[in-house]
Amino acid sequence: MNRRTAVRLAAAGSACLFRPAFGQSPFLAGLGMPYEAFDALAKTRVTVDGGAINLAFAPGRLDLDGVRVLSWVERAAMSVSTYYDRFPVASVRILIVPVEGAGVRNGTTWGYGGAAIRMLLGQSAHPDDLDRDWMMTHEMVHLALPDMTRRHTWLAEGLAVYIEPIARVQAGYLDARTVWADMMRDMPRGLPVAGGGGLDNTFSWETIYWGGALFCLLADIGYRRATGNRRGLQDAMRGVLAAGGNHEVEWPIGRILDTADQAAGVVVMRPLYESMRSEPVMTYLPGLWRDLGIEATPEGLIFHDDAPLAPIRIAMTAKPSAG
Ligand SMILES: [Zn+2]
Repeated sequence: MNRRTAVRLAAAGSACLFRPAFGQSPFLAGLGMPYEAFDALAKTRVTVDGGAINLAFAPGRLDLDGVRVLSWVERAAMSVSTYYDRFPVASVRILIVPVEGAGVRNGTTWGYGGAAIRMLLGQSAHPDDLDRDWMMTHEMVHLALPDMTRRHTWLAEGLAVYIEPIARVQAGYLDARTVWADMMRDMPRGLPVAGGGGLDNTFSWETIYWGGALFCLLADIGYRRATGNRRGLQDAMRGVLAAGGNHEVEWPIGRILDTADQAAGVVVMRPLYESMRSEPVMTYLPGLWRDLGIEATPEGLIFHDDAPLAPIRIAMTAKPSAG
């Protein structure tokens, strides 16, 4: 999630289901990035695709060793760099905070004081948790989009939810079958419910994360249909980043969408937004999966490569050409 979402969730009293492993830590206090406390820590610096990563650990015990954690961070950085053709920011602070429990617990990304990610990691987290993790990649996708006002959080979260697994497939850390199976399972959560509104005025968790992800799926298909499958959402969002649109700046949503459309060479995202911003728009997902050539069976997912949109489905997770 990003900073504004964290603020919203905290205000709603439903922030994170964890208990800090130590009291009154400056690394967990407040809703912002603890820049000052971070800068006083010892850091490990690595570069990935032109971006410098400064990794630091808040005090506390971790079963995992630092080398494992660093390689997890590097894998996520490779995934987003593959998707965007470069690491999204020149430099990022990554703060690992040990907390009670297991697994990767919660991430937050900020840009206002320099790109920064705080990740809460369970003290008893296991290497397998890092191998399976999606959160680090999700947070790094946030680095590749300007900050926006709260009502457009759905676009930031939608892009992160949609791009994270595709980036991991393109980098070789996940298989496409898993991505489509997860989309079939979870995309229905993003459909409007009775009495609901559009993307800009529905503040449910489902709409922000999955309504946003569905918007991105529709945009990706829209770009590919309009360009004979030559360009997709990936080209559009690479264009936003190339125009300086990373998380350290704040842009109005219209500038993001217009820059994306310009980069793709076709106008898709802006009209899609205009149609979905204030009105609930129903998408008939079973028909969409059928057109993409995806069938869920008790034995698992079956791909039909003769379906009308199968070439688009295949292109969406294919490894992109560099530059
Ligand atoms: Zn997020």
